[in-house]
Amino acid sequence: MADLVLATDDAGGPEIFASLQGEGPSVGTPVAFIRLSRCNLACTWCDTAYTWRFEGDNRPHRNGTTFERKANQVTLSPEKAAAKIAALGQKRLVITGGEPLMQCGPLADMLAILPDIEVEIETNGTTRANAHVDIRVDQYNVSPKLAHSGNDVELALIPERLDFYASDPRAFFKFVIAEPEDVDEVLDLQRRHMIRPDRVFLMAEGITSEALRTRQKWLSDLCLRHGFRFSDRLHIHLYGDERGT
Ligand code: SF4
Repeated sequence: MADLVLATDDAGGPEIFASLQGEGPSVGTPVAFIRLSRCNLACTWCDTAYTWRFEGDNRPHRNGTTFERKANQVTLSPEKAAAKIAALGQKRLVITGGEPLMQCGPLADMLAILPDIEVEIETNGTTRANAHVDIRVDQYNVSPKLAHSGNDVELALIPERLDFYASDPRAFFKFVIAEPEDVDEVLDLQRRHMIRPDRVFLMAEGITSEALRTRQKWLSDLCLRHGFRFSDRLHIHLYGDERGT
């Protein structure tokens, strides 16, 4: 049985914690979180760059920081990860990253030990779960990355993957918006992949309450105009941009 590769918390332990879900359709719900390390994309504004931008990775990131791999990754067996999650006593589990679907084998082993927990997966939408993980998923939070993320479009927006998630009633789409023009790209994707507007969330980019509130003023109007849903980033207001929250 392969181990999971997790991000670390501030104390250097695996980033498994209880908190309120801060984004998307389940915002405000008390959940357990597990944050897996590694990502197949490299967003310039990524707020969890410690999951992928290790020393020697020169892909652009707005603050230029690189992270020591040894201090920011920890391996854990599926059994130990499941025990830590169970000890948090939550009904629902959010599996996030990084890109968590890069580790479906050990994830399936972990979920097999947690047969009753509800499962929400946060993915960038470029990959799919294997059958053993997929059968356990109650909700996908799919966050395709727009041009302002700095990723090559061929890597970030894979048409057959977007079609797959658009046709899955468990999937919600959450787009990070930095400028009003970004919503034109969302509208184009929504039309091309026939995504129901009530399954689309627009979420302001920002890692401070002030930055979020500034962008949310115009973003709320755009949600109303296009029939999209609005997502806050509750954890930023409650705890700031901190690990383990
Ligand atoms: S897909 Fe998510 S985890 Fe990966 S670089 Fe982008 S924001 Fe960060």
